[in-house]
Amino acid sequence: MHRTNRLWLPAYCSPDGLLPKVQETRSLFESRPYAFPDFVGRAYAFLKSNDVRKMGFEFHADQALPCKWKCPDESLFAADLAIYAQTGHYPFNKGKLGGGFNEKALGAAVHHGTINIDFGGSHVGYMPGKKGGSFGQVWRPQVSAPSPNCGYLSVLTSEFQKVFNDATNNILIYQPPGEKVFVNVPNEYVQPNWSSLAIKLLIDTDTLTYGEVEYEPMALQTHFPIGRSLFVLSDAFLDGLTAEERVRLMTPEPTPIGCSLSPKYFNIFDVDAEVDSHGLPQQRLLPYMKYILAARHAPPLLKAAIINTNIEHNRLTDMTRTEAFRPYAFASFSGVFIDLFDEASGRYGVLFQPLAIAIKPAGRQREIELLPGEIHERFDKLTPAVPAVPMEDVLRSASFESWTDAYTFEVK
Ligand SMILES: [Zn+2]
Repeated sequence: MHRTNRLWLPAYCSPDGLLPKVQETRSLFESRPYAFPDFVGRAYAFLKSNDVRKMGFEFHADQALPCKWKCPDESLFAADLAIYAQTGHYPFNKGKLGGGFNEKALGAAVHHGTINIDFGGSHVGYMPGKKGGSFGQVWRPQVSAPSPNCGYLSVLTSEFQKVFNDATNNILIYQPPGEKVFVNVPNEYVQPNWSSLAIKLLIDTDTLTYGEVEYEPMALQTHFPIGRSLFVLSDAFLDGLTAEERVRLMTPEPTPIGCSLSPKYFNIFDVDAEVDSHGLPQQRLLPYMKYILAARHAPPLLKAAIINTNIEHNRLTDMTRTEAFRPYAFASFSGVFIDLFDEASGRYGVLFQPLAIAIKPAGRQREIELLPGEIHERFDKLTPAVPAVPMEDVLRSASFESWTDAYTFEVK
């Protein structure tokens, strides 16, 4: 009889439930991010171009309201200053902590300007350094120490991260001589009752295993200590391992599963998460949490910033498609802000990796979406528009090369 532990999962974690795709870190970060002031200049050059006019979007600088939706973290303030310098206007705030989009702000914004120019997204701190530097923290000059950044996304993910790390260290794989490969799992990762924590991680017995190892009194290898269950590891899992991982795991010595615990083989959820009448969580990042924790090509907070920007950009475009906003024009530039402490100037610098541009002409319902690669291709050819106030007067610097030079991350 086939037995599964999937029935302990909340509906939104069901492995049978298809989740909408979010953009891959590797393809997004193949191109280098822009210094944000440079990006804003190019965005306004793009808005004035024939390409945009052909999309049916009429840009009139005097009617356009610049807007921002991003985390209030002071490390991002250069973004506000750059928008001000470029346009001569203070950006309207459509943002929330963590880089959320505030839906309630949209009604007011269109009454202040019938053309909304949106710049927004989540952010992630970057610490320049050898081997491409690191993501997830930024240097805080007032306390002379680094701190997690984005702090909001860090708090949201940290409890999940602790449980995931514990699982990767305590789920053990080994191959007794002459036997199949076994996986020995602490019971709290098999069934949620065995853990007192609100965050529950469960291995997916359907994909990771062929079921329990049958107990045989005379066969010592089928015995296991209290609080653990023993399973036969599935061929699907073994086939997905690299040669290096096979050498590490397929030994008689029990070895932690480590980073081989990929999203296909586990689920994670918070029993206290607020869900709506459809069983869907209010915090829309939660169904994607396992992809954040087990991301191989991105540090967790960078992955969280990318996914959150995908979700919040959708919240924005979804709203601009409603009947109430049909008469208005929107040009939305969404991406991940990368903030770093610039040693040269003693201030924060802000880079921007564009993820999406959505152009919705007035009177239309649907927007025109540009692909990330397409954005770089078009923007690299543009000369930034002349700012209303010289950038150096506002940002105290005319060149942002020290920001872009400090950024040495390369995707693997
Ligand atoms: Zn933040």
